[in-house]
Amino acid sequence: MAYVAPVRDYQFLFENVFKTDQYSNLKGFADADSATVAAILEEAAKFAEEVLHPINITGDKEGCTLDPVTHEVTAPKGYKEAYKALTEAGWTALSGDPQYGGQGLPHFVNTAFSEMLSGASSAFGMYPGLTEGAISALTAGGTQAQKDLYLPKLISGEWSGTMNLTEPHCGTDLGLLRTKAVPAGDGSYKITGQKIWISAGEHDFTSNICHLVLARLEGAPAGVKGISLFLVPKFIPDADGNPGERNSLQCAGLEHKMGIHGNSTCVMMYDEAKGFLLGSENEGLKIMFYMMNNARFGVGLQGLAIGHAALVAANQFAKDRLQGRALTGPKSPELPADSILVHPDVRRMLLESRALIEGGRAFLTWVSLQADLAHVSEDESMREKASDYMGLLTPVIKAYLTDKGLKVTQDAMQVHGGSGFTEHFPASQYMRDVRITLIYEGTNGVQALDLVGRKLPSKGGRALQTFLGEIDAYIAAEESDTKVPAYIKALKDTKAKLLDGTMWLMQNGMGNPDAAAAGSLDYLHLFGLTCTAYMWARMAKEAQAQIDAGATDPFFDTKLKVGRVFLERILPDAEAHLIKMKAGSEGLMALADDQF
Ligand SMILES: Cc1cc2nc3c(=O)[nH]c(=O)nc-3n(C[C@H](O)[C@H](O)[C@H](O)COP(=O)(O)OP(=O)(O)OC[C@H]3O[C@@H](n4cnc5c(N)ncnc54)[C@H](O)[C@@H]3O)c2cc1C
Repeated sequence: MAYVAPVRDYQFLFENVFKTDQYSNLKGFADADSATVAAILEEAAKFAEEVLHPINITGDKEGCTLDPVTHEVTAPKGYKEAYKALTEAGWTALSGDPQYGGQGLPHFVNTAFSEMLSGASSAFGMYPGLTEGAISALTAGGTQAQKDLYLPKLISGEWSGTMNLTEPHCGTDLGLLRTKAVPAGDGSYKITGQKIWISAGEHDFTSNICHLVLARLEGAPAGVKGISLFLVPKFIPDADGNPGERNSLQCAGLEHKMGIHGNSTCVMMYDEAKGFLLGSENEGLKIMFYMMNNARFGVGLQGLAIGHAALVAANQFAKDRLQGRALTGPKSPELPADSILVHPDVRRMLLESRALIEGGRAFLTWVSLQADLAHVSEDESMREKASDYMGLLTPVIKAYLTDKGLKVTQDAMQVHGGSGFTEHFPASQYMRDVRITLIYEGTNGVQALDLVGRKLPSKGGRALQTFLGEIDAYIAAEESDTKVPAYIKALKDTKAKLLDGTMWLMQNGMGNPDAAAAGSLDYLHLFGLTCTAYMWARMAKEAQAQIDAGATDPFFDTKLKVGRVFLERILPDAEAHLIKMKAGSEGLMALADDQF
């Protein structure tokens, strides 16, 4: 089953919906005019479909192997060659800072490429994905000398990066971490401890691996206030910046896991390994958050990307599979049966999935544009607003898109019937690969707590107020003469529910934190639905405008038909989420522990 990259959808989003050409005066955007971006999308799709997708299934079957003597890890066949092709074509440098060899293109372009990378092979896509996170942490917290030494090699993909937080007794609760750092007397530190489940922790296709490791200095304050961040390279760079002495760290084991088999999930042992402090002592978490936020966005994207790939497979399967007859009479009487596409229930699964994916993709693109504006807008208020949005919406992107990615992938399997449960079709691999996205990078429940407990109240609720104000202004501007009134009404209703839910949280959550926590995931979903209702209103407006202007491309008519499914069959969930969150925590807290 082939992977088909969503090129046309991205073109529509960039050119029609977000009109990215309007920012051509901003740094980086001048090189990302519509024609250039269209060419990049075509090339990215070719790379994803022809180079990456073929190694997806073989990588899943083969997995990674650890040499018990050398502790070196070999990735599945074809990964090394694909990685070489990836770096030689400059894909890892797409949005990198030109000062360090990057191409300086806006993030929204990289987001499109990253979706194709993850959709074609999510396990493979994690290797460059983690490096991207390491680049953001180094950019935020490295000294100039550290940036000069590491960034060019990470951006080119010659070296890769990893993220080391988790320890056997310490997952969500990072305050428990024990990995130790001791000053070595020469400005560096000796790092000792065990980290588990480190993605891309060891592999065979870069000449160095830069581990970003959280550790605790002796005498540091307890909890998260005493955590520092260290850069611990596999090979310590020599005076010329080339990989030198082998550091005392190794991969002690590979995890056997449900999915993403092509990505090495490593137990990493650090035995007085040489590490270099990033930022200040005990301030490590602040810098690590740059990597974590980057990774949260990347995981939301991964959930969406796998969902899209699974939907492509389900669409192909449904066209070919002949079972039963249409209830309204045979559609293909010359065949022994009709294709399963005639059945409304099959269409329900395919079209609800498509409505979720296309709305989610617009949401992802809009937020990645905010990342660009937060960095390069010349207008201070625009930078502030965009940066507020990034903070507020990152947990929504992570949890909403991965929950929906799972739903889409599950429906894609259901469309396949029994074939989906066999390994002969790709549906089961997608199902196994997508499941982790709800768990790692902070579980979705923890993302919801972050949204409700930290992001909403931050800066007196400024980000939320700005967001709600933007939606109100959009509705006010469109309401009187809109050509897509159903979308404007739906947005208005959903936004009112979000406001209602927010007020409920303010009235009930302050006095009873359990009440806020119990409703937090429903609130997050209400938020995600409001964001995607906004996106669908904007997409529908542009699709309708193209049709009214005489466009004959069936893409626009299809967009409106899929949008209708969003309004009729996805958006009503908003009501249920509001009701559930208002149920509060009493029912959940009523059972005594020994009743479980
Ligand atoms: C394949 C894979 C790859 C990974 N890659 C990396 C990596 O590269 N680097 C890295 O550092 N880590 C990595 N991880 C670890 C991952 O980030 C953690 O598994 C995840 O953050 C959850 O931590 P945990 O597994 O310890 O679960 P726990 O923290 O034990 O949580 C168990 C359950 O309790 C809930 N819970 C816990 N605390 C709270 C709370 N305060 N409030 C409400 N609910 C709570 C959680 O939501 C969850 O449902 C990886 C894990 C896997 C499986």
